[in-house]
Amino acid sequence: MSQVVKVERHDAVAIVTVDSPPVNALSVAVRKGITDGVKSAIADPDAKAIVIMCAGRTFIAGADITEFGKPPQSPSLHDVIDTIENSPKPVIAAIHGTALGGGFELALGCHYRVATKDAKVGLPEVKLGLLPGAGGTQRLPRAVGPEMAVKMIVTGDFVGAPEAMKAGAIDEIVDNLASGAEAFARKVIAEKKPLRKLRDDDSKLAAAKADKSIFTNAAAAANKKNRGLEAPLAAAEAVSHSLDQPFDQALKSERELFMKLMTGEQSKAQRYAFFAEREAAKIAGVPDGTKGRDVKSVAIIGAGTMGGGIAMSFANAGIPVTLIETGEEPLKRGLGVMQKNYDATAARGGIPADAPAKRMGLIKGVVGIENVKDADLIIEAVFETMAVKKEVFGQIDKHAKKGAVLATNTSYLNINEIAKMTQRPQDVLGMHFFSPANVMKLCEIVRGEKTAPDALVTAVNIAKKIAKVPVVVGVCDGFVGNRMLAARGKQAEKFLFEGALPQQVDAVLTKFGMPMGPFAMGDLAGLDIGWRSRKDRGIKSEIADAICEAGRFGQKTGKGYYKYEAGSRAPLPDPDIEKLIEETTTKMGLKRRQISDDEIFERLMYPMINEGARILEEKIAQRPSDIDVVWLYGYGWPIYRGGPMFYADTVGLKKIADRLSVYAKQTNDPSLEPTPLLKKLADEGKTFASLAKGG
Ligand code: NAD
Repeated sequence: MSQVVKVERHDAVAIVTVDSPPVNALSVAVRKGITDGVKSAIADPDAKAIVIMCAGRTFIAGADITEFGKPPQSPSLHDVIDTIENSPKPVIAAIHGTALGGGFELALGCHYRVATKDAKVGLPEVKLGLLPGAGGTQRLPRAVGPEMAVKMIVTGDFVGAPEAMKAGAIDEIVDNLASGAEAFARKVIAEKKPLRKLRDDDSKLAAAKADKSIFTNAAAAANKKNRGLEAPLAAAEAVSHSLDQPFDQALKSERELFMKLMTGEQSKAQRYAFFAEREAAKIAGVPDGTKGRDVKSVAIIGAGTMGGGIAMSFANAGIPVTLIETGEEPLKRGLGVMQKNYDATAARGGIPADAPAKRMGLIKGVVGIENVKDADLIIEAVFETMAVKKEVFGQIDKHAKKGAVLATNTSYLNINEIAKMTQRPQDVLGMHFFSPANVMKLCEIVRGEKTAPDALVTAVNIAKKIAKVPVVVGVCDGFVGNRMLAARGKQAEKFLFEGALPQQVDAVLTKFGMPMGPFAMGDLAGLDIGWRSRKDRGIKSEIADAICEAGRFGQKTGKGYYKYEAGSRAPLPDPDIEKLIEETTTKMGLKRRQISDDEIFERLMYPMINEGARILEEKIAQRPSDIDVVWLYGYGWPIYRGGPMFYADTVGLKKIADRLSVYAKQTNDPSLEPTPLLKKLADEGKTFASLAKGG
């Protein structure tokens, strides 16, 4: 018998158990084991019904994605499902944990499905740029109706067992998986229940076949938030064939659409991102088996934009937080913003109606830094000034308990210098969240020169616990993300002096798939922050300064690089800005020119990639894919383009290096010359990905 699948018989019920940790993924061994197991139960004259279930924490949680891109091995999932569906004896899937992707498709190929109450089912293939390729797009609409099916398949969202049962995808909820499934199987035998094959049951399709708009409306609604992704559109098309093609033909169409996605660029990028995220959690130089410290209580200092958002992230994960401010007034303001934020989300239906009260109940607002004393983790989110940070860390050191991890949310400042203000630099690190912190998933974990490995592991673990994606980076000005952003921002600003307008520059990036360009982003963050910092440092930026001098601080004043209608966040080009830019450049004696979108694109992107290469040279990032994860989760880089370093490899490093040299000369900026690492890789015809494989 197979190593990963065993068959037992309990009276008339044959139990086929998959035991392939960690998640019983559908590797070739599992596929073969299930096929053999079901066949042996069919051949067993004493078995009258067959249960397929899994050992461990979950039912089959999907395909074995390490097999993607390799030559297919028999039996395919299609073959497995055929064997199950055509079994002359009823086959029952017994689901616990999560039945996902191929796992759920296999369950849909069974004649009946039972599940524990807390089980979840879903077809999340779109998240890897794919669609369910083993009949899921045809059987799910027959189980739950095409409207719900298209929603589930296009969004990839999971559905809990009770909801799935109400919709028709689950036949019974059981308390105990094994005994409940067996009891259900005996009932099927005793009542001589028919072999229910979803493929033959079109009853739930009738309404949408009669009225096409039922499906088209549901598909459009499901695809509403889709920005540039091919897979959700293809998935909706595949589901639509449940209505206009016979089952077997629709399966062929599903296969064709699947293969097109599988061999396309988008899915390649999305699968890369999936692995990159997992890889990012591995920290070089931390001894194997290093355990994080226990974090039972958290204190956050500063209830401003970031402190508030970070506190919400903890409360969302059910972790209590002490939120510390300098006085009652800023505390009240901070708590008020959070309450409003939660209320708005609840009003939209994004969280349950009782969630705002529950979550706010986890956040205890207090005045005075001495309140850090019980916290295992302290996150500082006060003003971005070295003097203030130093003062605050000196105070934290006085009051924090021994062994507490002390984190700063600084965007740019030197963490080693901050750590020196304490007697315990080994406990100090950066936890750099992104705005809005309750939404953005990235957390750069900044490792100081003295940061202890177990402090680092603690930060990584807690970030994961609050549903963030941690990426470990080193100390430098702006760390990974903001440092690369600065390289892009410098070019963006230059374009305004040379002849472009904010809307032209931004449009080039949104067309590429970024959620917004640098000027809209500036308006969102607030232009006054940079203005104040330039004044402090005695730096001038004629256009940006003139905009701020006109009282235009961005969205918060209704005007910045763009104008905004009351209550709207949509940037509208403003003729006043055009005038201001032209007047400023004329006054400076600059000659404006037409700049092509291609030049804008290359000069925004390639210097960023060059900076990424420099970051790798300096070992600020551990691997190119970590840089990509930073951009995917911190800046909304389109997932179907993999991240800047992945994207660079698709363009070709030689082209990028050559163009950088051209622009270095054209703009008289030697810092744009390709960095030695980029140049070396380009000359050798290599990629950034080759570095991960050891050069
Ligand atoms: P903010 O001005 O909105 O909030 C800072 C808060 O800290 C204020 O409410 C202030 O009252 C409080 N504060 C100041 N000194 C304090 C003290 N000694 N004790 C307790 N509270 C004190 O600023 P922000 O935008 O939330 O930024 C906070 C930090 O996060 C900065 O280091 C910033 O660089 C960083 N950051 C900001 C962003 C962003 O987009 N805003 C993104 C990432 C990181």
